[in-house]
Amino acid sequence: MRFSWTDLSLSLRRHTGPMTEELALVPANDATGLLPASRLPQTTARLVCGFCATGCGLTAHLQDGRAVNLTADEDYPVNLGMACPKGWEALTPLASPDRGTTPLLRRPNGAMMPIDWPHATAEFARRMREVQARHGLHSIAFLSTGQICTEEMALLGCLFKFGMGGLHCDSNTRQCMATAHVAYKQSFGFDAPPYTYADLEESDVLVFVGSNPCIAHPIMWQRVMRNAHRPEILVLDPRTTETAMAATQHYALRPKSDLTVLYGLARRLAEMGVVNRAFADAHTTGLDAFLEFVQPFTVEKVARASGLGAAQLERMARTIAGGKRVSYWWTMGVNQGHESTRTAQALINLALMTGQIGRPGTGANSITGQCNAMGSRLYSNVTSMIGGHDFAHPNDRRKVSEVLEIPRRIIPEQKSWAYDQIVDGIRDGQIRGLWVVATNSAHSWINQGRFNGLLDQLEFLVVQDLYPNTETARRAHLYLPAAGWGEKEGTFINSERRIGLVRPVKRPPGEALTDFDIFGRLAEAWGCGHLFRKWTSPEAAFQILKDLSRGQPCDMSGIRDYDMLEARGGVQWPWPEPAGDAGSEPARERRLFADGRFFTEDGRARFFFSAPRPPEENVDHHYPFVLLTGRGTSAQWHTLTRTDRSDVLRALAPRGCYVEINPADAARLGIRAQSRVRVQSRRGSLEATAYLTPTVAEGQVFIPMHYPEVNQLTLSCFDPYSRQPSYKHCAVSLEAGAA
Ligand code: SF4
Repeated sequence: MRFSWTDLSLSLRRHTGPMTEELALVPANDATGLLPASRLPQTTARLVCGFCATGCGLTAHLQDGRAVNLTADEDYPVNLGMACPKGWEALTPLASPDRGTTPLLRRPNGAMMPIDWPHATAEFARRMREVQARHGLHSIAFLSTGQICTEEMALLGCLFKFGMGGLHCDSNTRQCMATAHVAYKQSFGFDAPPYTYADLEESDVLVFVGSNPCIAHPIMWQRVMRNAHRPEILVLDPRTTETAMAATQHYALRPKSDLTVLYGLARRLAEMGVVNRAFADAHTTGLDAFLEFVQPFTVEKVARASGLGAAQLERMARTIAGGKRVSYWWTMGVNQGHESTRTAQALINLALMTGQIGRPGTGANSITGQCNAMGSRLYSNVTSMIGGHDFAHPNDRRKVSEVLEIPRRIIPEQKSWAYDQIVDGIRDGQIRGLWVVATNSAHSWINQGRFNGLLDQLEFLVVQDLYPNTETARRAHLYLPAAGWGEKEGTFINSERRIGLVRPVKRPPGEALTDFDIFGRLAEAWGCGHLFRKWTSPEAAFQILKDLSRGQPCDMSGIRDYDMLEARGGVQWPWPEPAGDAGSEPARERRLFADGRFFTEDGRARFFFSAPRPPEENVDHHYPFVLLTGRGTSAQWHTLTRTDRSDVLRALAPRGCYVEINPADAARLGIRAQSRVRVQSRRGSLEATAYLTPTVAEGQVFIPMHYPEVNQLTLSCFDPYSRQPSYKHCAVSLEAGAA
């Protein structure tokens, strides 16, 4: 198996519009893998953006076969010609002079020395095998990402579990989407966001909970702005975010009181007679138990917990009760909480009890974070088996072994540990070798001081990334330079289940390789390459994934090939192989559950609910402020690995860590605007610039997630069902006049 840069010429020939037959037959230049410059057309290529899961279509403008600029694709059904700053600047981070260009191996003196790929892959196999020999087969683990192509993450998961004998692996989607995954799986029977972006334009009431799309998903917000129904836009968020300012109603509830508020809302809606009995009786199970459960959530109780007034709560309920097409939208303010799964399901329950699902402008709709978090949720073969299957289910193991043509005995029957359990495994000495792929855990994982101390205990740490100088890569024993988005081929799956195409429009620097190619080389070095003989290219892998998806809710067997994805502007799953109507084509916008049938065995959705619990760490005399974290600007992405390498994007965001403080709190503590402030928690401290703003309430502070210091403060606390970290609530103190 191999897919290398030499295939770029083929990809361009296939995708860049009119070409003569003669040109299509010109062989690649041996030295560079590129067609001779003089023979390449100056034309365009279409590809999906590689930052967030909105999944905008971009047009790369090519000169001599290489992208020199990007514009937003006017014909792509997601973004309709719009893009946010990250999309416009997506090529710039690829050209950064500090890209990794060759594998690097740490020498005994601590220095990283360049080595070639044969030595790097041999070293990887030798040292991982040594760890396994000393500590057991399951003493190695990987942590991967929602940023690489579906075909790549599928190959990684299959290589590790079926080829290398590993078991424990997870992805950074644990940090953003695990809650939505579990909530949907329990409630609907499958991890199935029901909506299409057209629903943002069709609702007459939109309820955003813990979600700030104005800056986190700006193009989705633009879709809201196209809504012609003069919608009521309700925002439930402790902060007066950009979205809250643009909304028609903002409810500044206390941090982590959302579950109580949503149960109180369900009680009040039932009182008002908004329950859709006909829908609930026909399509759900558990409504009566849920309605009984919410009875104690009186207005008084909700007001006490949330700080919202009775009149506010009544206005919220009346607005929702009066809506004909009500949609509920949530993001990290819900997903990253200590009781996040039940909070997400409280929103699902509201949609189910009122029958606001399966019709235009409705739904309980989780907005996804990373560009391919949905690909990771369905195909990465980590905690769920590839294709949305279950490791514990014998029929699922049989199907996967047959499709992949691998022995059934090499497919594990147990689930992998989740991310936090892998971290605890390092602490306990059970995990000794770790492979980190396209994520920056040393920056982004919760309670960073503890995590980084544990990284230093590893016998072998491999980091595969675009850059050798991320906070995580700097600690590696072996660094593998990877191609980035725009330098490789494959698919992403966006928030609305749309499978979109990514393609190479630039050459990776030096000897950097696509992740797909790196995994192929590692399989050969490990001696298990024969298991993956059908995975000859990303598109060949896509055909395998289609077969794996057959019969699943995420069935995409009807997507012929990459060309169909390009021609259709992506295709939302499900799109099963047509039976009898082979000529049919998918509509550009499709939502789930129009027929009221869910993916549970009996076709009925379920109500899930539990009594709210207080956060694990509350404020006290020593740590009197609640720390909230979240996105800072639309020009910043996660740990800034890519966006900080663009002058344009850097100019659009504040430099250095800052903390937003309410002016009343600042006055009480003698903190002046723009002065330096020490922020301290029980786990660590940081210095930040004070930004005084009434958009944070008294007793709360906000620090953007992008700065490397912030997770020195956060608390290792997880939702019990999704094991997603709670980044949104811990106790801190402020001290004026830090040096
Ligand atoms: Fe890319 Fe997301 Fe911006 Fe669209 S909104 S251009 S997908 S980062």
